[in-house]
Amino acid sequence: MELPHPTIAATRAAIAERRTTATRLVEAFHQKIKAEDPEIHAWLTLCEERALAQAQRVDERAARGEALPPLAGVPVGIKDVMVTKGVRTTAGSKILGNFVPPYDSTAVARLEAAGAIVLGKLNCDEFAMGSSNENSAYGPVRNPHDKSRVPGGSSGGSAAAVASGMAVATLGSDTGGSIRQPASFCGVVGLMPTYGRVSRYGLIAFASSLDHIGPLTRTVRDAAILLRVIAGRDPMDSTSADVPVPDYELEIAKPVKGLKLGVPKEYFGEGLDQEVRASVEAAIARLAAQGAVIVPISLPHTPYAVPTYYVIATAEASANLARYDGVRYGYRSPQAHTLAEMYRRSRDEGFGAEVKRRIMLGTYALSAGYYDAYYLKAQKVRTLLARDFETAFQKVDAIVTPTAPTPAFKIGEKTDDPLAMYLADIYTVTGDLAGVPGISVPCGTTRSGLPIGLQILGRHFDEGTVLRVAQAVEDSANNILG
Ligand code: GLN
Repeated sequence: MELPHPTIAATRAAIAERRTTATRLVEAFHQKIKAEDPEIHAWLTLCEERALAQAQRVDERAARGEALPPLAGVPVGIKDVMVTKGVRTTAGSKILGNFVPPYDSTAVARLEAAGAIVLGKLNCDEFAMGSSNENSAYGPVRNPHDKSRVPGGSSGGSAAAVASGMAVATLGSDTGGSIRQPASFCGVVGLMPTYGRVSRYGLIAFASSLDHIGPLTRTVRDAAILLRVIAGRDPMDSTSADVPVPDYELEIAKPVKGLKLGVPKEYFGEGLDQEVRASVEAAIARLAAQGAVIVPISLPHTPYAVPTYYVIATAEASANLARYDGVRYGYRSPQAHTLAEMYRRSRDEGFGAEVKRRIMLGTYALSAGYYDAYYLKAQKVRTLLARDFETAFQKVDAIVTPTAPTPAFKIGEKTDDPLAMYLADIYTVTGDLAGVPGISVPCGTTRSGLPIGLQILGRHFDEGTVLRVAQAVEDSANNILG
């Protein structure tokens, strides 16, 4: 391996200076994946031909001495919920086990247009439903820091691939925390942009009003570089926002001195692991030492966030997943003799237990008799949660919290208790419900060496400040970790 655990900038420079070639890099990464992934299981599909063809295009440009695009030759992985033309895309589900999409999602197309090389597709919870990657129909992912533990979810493969150096960067998706929580568990940076910042075109829908695409990277700078490439209006997604995309690398160069950082008391209560608390509080103290002004705040509707999220997300999922009927996509039961039986059996055999649980919950919440009591009520509480943030952001520039209440838990520890699993999302679902951007950045480790993440939430479309604070956390964490 010529570039052990490299960053985007280092990879691009090595190619531009002709110290290596994209082709050599791709081959090295694929070799590493084949040697090391059987222990981790981050990858579901490798696309070697597509990667080598793209590497050749990059190498030809480098050989001609052309100016290289921002991700030239950077090997990346894509969570298997984003469609890739000609490359199997499963969403971690048996029902899409044989699905080969006819087009590329916008985020993937933009990565490739910027010179990135897609190595393959990454394991995840089925339809991105989960917090541990144990809901994948293809088996769990293991945390590279401790293989008896989960990598977090649902973008567990995306986080584990970066943490183990099997990709320089990856894309994940976040509906209730699925980029930030696995980033926290695996000790990498995970950024959920503002809702609408990145096109969802070609993202297999879980809960459309909550789904976000974002990067998982080794460094805050890499997240800044990647976000700039994938962000911006896309005519193929009417919810993508027409808001200018700044140069985030300029933002992270600014000091945090004078920034007001809110610390919400509701995120430091019961259920927060003591080592996580100590590490996050120490990181906040280091931000204060750099001149940030720490402001105690309250986000009073936080206790309602998890139930609100699980009503809205399951309701939207029940509608989105109605399209899997054995006719249009993927798996069709060979056992069926009538049309109704084909629908029933294809869905029964194709979906896993958690997906079925959510379709039932969501269908119930949307049913005529219960719509007002559940779905409508949840929408109202969602508005209150969003207002909590609006009020807070009148006083502070960003909010800092733990990303998750605990470090990575053991594989199997929560699989029999879906409610305990849902509570792992307590600090992340609020950001999705309010549509604000959030990042998880490593801030320390437990005594046994498990990574701990700090979350930073910001104003709508102010990823610049979120990244800037994250950079300060990363710098100060590097100082203490050496
Ligand atoms: N863990 C949450 C859930 O299971 C979030 C998933 C996600 O963000 N995709 O729904």
